Amino acid sequence: MSDERLIHTAVYNSLEEQIAVIDGSGCIVDVNQAWIRFGAANGLPSEQSCMGDNYLETLFRSVNTGDHLAAGALQGISAVLEGKRESFSIEYPCHSPDEKRWFTMRIVPLSGAGSDNLFVVSHHNITARKLAELKVQDLAMHDPLTSLANRRAFNLFFDRELKTAKRAQTPLTLMVADIDHFKLINDEFGHAAGDQCLALFATALSECARRPNDLAARIGGDEFALVLGTTDQAHALHVAEQFRSSLHALPLPFAPGRFMATSIGLIAKIPEKTDTMELFLQHADRALYAAKSAGRNRVHSAF
Ligand code: GH3
Ligand code: MG
Repeated sequence: MSDERLIHTAVYNSLEEQIAVIDGSGCIVDVNQAWIRFGAANGLPSEQSCMGDNYLETLFRSVNTGDHLAAGALQGISAVLEGKRESFSIEYPCHSPDEKRWFTMRIVPLSGAGSDNLFVVSHHNITARKLAELKVQDLAMHDPLTSLANRRAFNLFFDRELKTAKRAQTPLTLMVADIDHFKLINDEFGHAAGDQCLALFATALSECARRPNDLAARIGGDEFALVLGTTDQAHALHVAEQFRSSLHALPLPFAPGRFMATSIGLIAKIPEKTDTMELFLQHADRALYAAKSAGRNRVHSAF
């Protein structure tokens, strides 16, 4: 082998990216060391280095189990193999039992003399970037003080539940709960104590959101929302009253013998076609205002 070929082979085998060369039918004709190492680390004996295997076979199997991502990958790869597109790449999850992992798969024709109808497939581990992206997405959806869903997450969730309730004609509940005289707590015990109250309130409220179609959210300073899917007024009133009374019995760590109180406005109804999130919020807010006006530390229902 010429010096240049030796260097190229060494580079190929030094790359962290897993690389395979396949022919037009998907048959693997060459792999680099990273490809072999990954196979060995994931249950393939290293002597069985996948040469001669068909790269497309695993994808075919996944497509047959209804995997949409695999179907998209197969379509893109086939387009490159048939010369219909220059290249194709896709990001995909490939989690092991004890680690979350994501990869980018890219396929391009192998260029150079004597490389007719050969293609380079590369798998590049993008887990670090993907985890950072997920973290950013998570931060964008949560309130940092209480870790509850924020207003944006609430909007998205409520919209989805409203659509479901309209379609299934099931009752949907929205509660808006606001801490009574919260400003006084801040004034008397300081902002840090106020923050502690918000965190305690949030923990107690999140215990009311137990099913996949329930959500507790912080939608304002001391204003919280609880969405309960498939929940009628009788059950909603029961949940609200339980939350109100348990909050009123929750000891405040910075002020022994003192308790928080909350007023709650709720609406529970089977939504009409034209009902919107704004309408639910308007009714819940009005009921909350009525609860405040009637003396606070109580639950009011819109209807
Ligand atoms: P009401 O019973 O009518 O609800 O009275 P309130 O004092 O609770 O209502 P008001 O709207 O006057 O006060 C809300 C207070 O919440 C004012 C604001 O300083 C405080 N607040 C908003 N966000 C935060 C926060 O993140 N931390 C703390 N400690 N206080 C906050
Ligand atoms: Mg308040």
